[in-house]
Amino acid sequence: NKQIVFRDYVTGFPKEADMVHTTGTIRLKVEEGSKAMVVKNLYLSCDPYMRNRMAKPDGPSYVDSFTPGSPINGFGVAKVLDSGHPDFKEGDLVWGGTGWEEYSLISAPETVFKIAHTDMPLSYYTGLLGMPGLTAYAGFYEVCSPKKGEYVFISAASGAVGQLVGQFAKLMGCYVVGSAGSKQKIDLLKNKFGFDEAFNYKEEQDLNAALKRYFPEGIDIYFENVGGSMLDAVLLNMRLHGRIAVCGMISQYNLDKPEGIYNLFCLVTKRIRMEGFLVFDYYHMYPKFQQWVLPYIKEWKIVYIEDKIEGLANAPSALIRLFTGKNIGKQVVVVALE
Ligand code: NDP
Repeated sequence: NKQIVFRDYVTGFPKEADMVHTTGTIRLKVEEGSKAMVVKNLYLSCDPYMRNRMAKPDGPSYVDSFTPGSPINGFGVAKVLDSGHPDFKEGDLVWGGTGWEEYSLISAPETVFKIAHTDMPLSYYTGLLGMPGLTAYAGFYEVCSPKKGEYVFISAASGAVGQLVGQFAKLMGCYVVGSAGSKQKIDLLKNKFGFDEAFNYKEEQDLNAALKRYFPEGIDIYFENVGGSMLDAVLLNMRLHGRIAVCGMISQYNLDKPEGIYNLFCLVTKRIRMEGFLVFDYYHMYPKFQQWVLPYIKEWKIVYIEDKIEGLANAPSALIRLFTGKNIGKQVVVVALE
């Protein structure tokens, strides 16, 4: 069983060598009487929160750290080979928590969902129809309380979550601007995902001036994916009673000390609601989300871009691409096609 094993806790920028390609063994049958299941992994999801799991545990955290010497685990799409659980049987396709290896023993099948709509591209269950999709849905509709015509800004806008938030906001009739880190991504935002405007934050000397250019009347909703100096500039440009949904702060994940934010007093003066959220609290909404989004996908009213890397051995480099911005859309690792 080929595996990607976590070497040791990481400080600073993660490296490929922090994840080691090795071979282990696995029994492809579950023990008699066990509720576990054995799966063959098809697609693995690379997600920014995995960087937080590489850190040494240091007090209470929202996710467990990886265990040095054990395979990395995360979200993926898999096929059930054997199951002791009444809800799953051989041949079922599932998405949810699995390992970075060819085959995995899933001892807690309550962390996986059965895939009912197998006519969709299966890799979508790492993105659009999986955890990032639900993040975009819950974050935008539940946390941002959007209204038609509002001014919406999204950072890391071309990524797994951002590209969806922008399209959801357009469906709602909002004015939508995104920031991303390359010309190719800006083109996608404007020409593929239908954002009204987009800019490359790496080419802006003054983020405050850039935001003023696109939002002369200010921002009602900021979907926060990056943190740091972008958040500071956004605070200056929020409108009265604006909402900031704090989904993530990827610019801070590899820093030993987070960057200072200087404009927080704007929360008071402009009566802004800034709210952090975790998708794990919204899993009960998954069926509703799926029912809502499937028709839009089928009618091509929502599109999705994935960045697929072939081969388990390339999973470490795929994960690191998230932090260099090399990924164009949802970063997926293809382990096997069926
Ligand atoms: P993406 O697909 O957007 O990939 C990460 C992107 O972040 C990169 O492509 C890069 O794009 C950008 N980035 C990387 N480093 C920096 C930096 N230093 N400054 C600014 N941008 C940077 O990832 P996801 O869509 O999966 O995740 C987006 C955010 O959502 C993350 O913060 C993540 O932690 C969060 N998240 C939160 C969840 C929750 O439950 N709250 C659930 C899922 C995700 P670019 O070229 O534009 O710089």
